[in-house]
Amino acid sequence: MEILKLAPDMTVELKKPHPCGNRNFRILRVGSVCRTVCIGCGRDMDLDRVKLERAIKRILPEEP
Ligand SMILES: [Zn+2]
Repeated sequence: MEILKLAPDMTVELKKPHPCGNRNFRILRVGSVCRTVCIGCGRDMDLDRVKLERAIKRILPEEP
């Protein structure tokens, strides 16, 4: 299992989509609880870091 290096401003794709249908989330703050915002609907939410890491499918490349 690869180690994820989470950092603020990263965009990640999760395995499960948000209720709005979007899978991409931006990470706002990293800690034992991470704050993420859904790119589709703009709703932010706090996720336990371990759960977030398990939910990540891939890290998306930085957008120019
Ligand atoms: Zn959403």
